[in-house]
Amino acid sequence: MKIDLKPLKQVLSKFDREVRMTNPGFGRVFSEHMVISDYEASSGWSTPILQPYGPITLDPAASILHYGQSIFEGLKCYPQKNGNVALFRPVENWKRMNESAHRLAMPSIPEDLFISAAEALVRQDRSWVSDKRGESLYLRPLMFATEAALGVRPSISYRFVLFASPCGSYFPQGYKAVSVWLSEDYIRAAPGGTGAAKFAGNYGASLIGQKQAIDHGCDQVVWLDAREHRYLEEMGGMNICLVEKKNNQIHLVTPELTGTILPGITRLSLIQISKDLDWGFSERRISTQEWQEKSISGEFSETFACGTAAVITPIREVKSRTGSWLINQGTIGPVALQLREYLLDLQHGEIPDSHGWLHPIN
Ligand SMILES: *Cc1c(COP(=O)(O)O)cnc(C)c1O
Repeated sequence: MKIDLKPLKQVLSKFDREVRMTNPGFGRVFSEHMVISDYEASSGWSTPILQPYGPITLDPAASILHYGQSIFEGLKCYPQKNGNVALFRPVENWKRMNESAHRLAMPSIPEDLFISAAEALVRQDRSWVSDKRGESLYLRPLMFATEAALGVRPSISYRFVLFASPCGSYFPQGYKAVSVWLSEDYIRAAPGGTGAAKFAGNYGASLIGQKQAIDHGCDQVVWLDAREHRYLEEMGGMNICLVEKKNNQIHLVTPELTGTILPGITRLSLIQISKDLDWGFSERRISTQEWQEKSISGEFSETFACGTAAVITPIREVKSRTGSWLINQGTIGPVALQLREYLLDLQHGEIPDSHGWLHPIN
């Protein structure tokens, strides 16, 4: 697809850029360009424009501000061993964005628009992709309703925005395991709701649960099912994976997708990797009781969360109103470490890309 290129006349000097890319953390520093395309029900998507990164204006009546039609994605561009850069599984993000769009009664985005926009932005802001392992350029595609109308119905106009944020290693102080709070007061997603969509409202509704976790001295919140508050769903904005030891064989277990869990692409990649490594794998319901009993007995030797932003985050302790327990004696386990290195190896092109997951950009 043709992208209308209207970049800055003069980009930042190497020195100024490097200052901004030093310890960028996550999602606080943004690259110099963005891509925008507008949708009208009558004419479809406009030719995307690559332009300088900056504020956008909205009508106060724009329906995003009132009724919340807004969805997003998150994917990364990684420096490769051969000096190139590559996106990791961008087509999966495109598919999932359209599933989110469908749930929110928003228009779908053509694959070509999504991929061409990502390619154009990465080409333009190529120098914002760090060349260090574990660092990357995080891309944030976004779509929201722009129609100025107060009637409660799907908007007839939308804006697609794609921008980028250099992100350092998620754990600048070294790789750490986290403590989690079991949320029994709040839920993230209910059957028939929007839990499987990367929909802005899910995150707004989750903040109080995350705040409660912090108030209880934990790093993250763990969400349980809405009906019984018994079954594991997710940790914050990441999927959960457990390691079950059976006759000394490694077996990964993750909650099955029931419509209330976000179908993570990292989760999907781990399912494939467990097959590649000849490990066992199952998707099933896991109750907090089973989690507790088997973590204490050692049958569940590890639990970790997975997602694009932090890759793999081991859980060391679980706390709830009724008690707390340690996982793997409170230390980082070998399976989480191995999977993290394996994923990073794949993402940085250090091992063969046998599933065609890398999308190189020249
Ligand atoms: C984005 C997200 C994930 C992880 O998805 P990835 O595609 O692996 O990054 C998991 N849970 C929630 C709630 C999310 O928003």
